Amino acid sequence: MIKLNREPEPQYMVDNKATWLKNLKDAIASYGSYKTIPEKEKQKLISHYRNEHVRCALIKSSYGKCAFCECIPSEGGNVEVEHFKPKSIYPELTFEWNNFLPSCRKCNGSKDSHDTGIEPIINPYDIDPKDVFYFEDIEIKAVESSLKESADKTIEVCGLNTVRLWKPRAEILVSLRIFSRAIDEALEEIKNADTERKKANRIKKLREAVETIETLTYPGEKYSSFCRDFLEKSQVYHNAKRLLEYA
Ligand SMILES: [Zn+2]
Repeated sequence: MIKLNREPEPQYMVDNKATWLKNLKDAIASYGSYKTIPEKEKQKLISHYRNEHVRCALIKSSYGKCAFCECIPSEGGNVEVEHFKPKSIYPELTFEWNNFLPSCRKCNGSKDSHDTGIEPIINPYDIDPKDVFYFEDIEIKAVESSLKESADKTIEVCGLNTVRLWKPRAEILVSLRIFSRAIDEALEEIKNADTERKKANRIKKLREAVETIETLTYPGEKYSSFCRDFLEKSQVYHNAKRLLEYA
């Protein structure tokens, strides 16, 4: 999970949401509750939030990734418009822009109607996930902080420590280790270079290896928080950065 910034609310929502909400509230009043509105009618009343204006703005803000697990849903489905506070419990937030998140089907399905009003989870638009999560091997963990309970709940509710995420993390971990070894070898070669020319060439090679590994931490990359966490803890990487700074 990475920090996301909300895009401005699409004009289409600004122009229409009051009417849509009024119609939904009228149906709630007429049937007695949100749950008792006949399913077909309910779907017709709420479906307005699923539009391209909303989807495009959400996808833009999350670099096309799921806001929770950082997968790219387009590889195995679409980004879904997720309600942070479930519309089944908070129907008044059905069309509320600040209540939307882009999510993959797995996270959306796993979160389902979890009541974030009672048991809060981390919303990456509001809280920087790097302050509350870290990785140990391929597992995501909650940092000891005042938000630990919410962070643990997020991991549980969205299924962030399940095999579907362990697998890609494990694959990335192999790549990161390979890059780390390349950096380590380049550092050794620089140390042993017997001419300035050789040294300069090896520094160039090191710079390229460091730049390659850093691309994995860019926000548009899948699972970038996992890669950033790895690099922050990598002594080899820090040694290389220090050397390049003075090279
Ligand atoms: Zn997801």
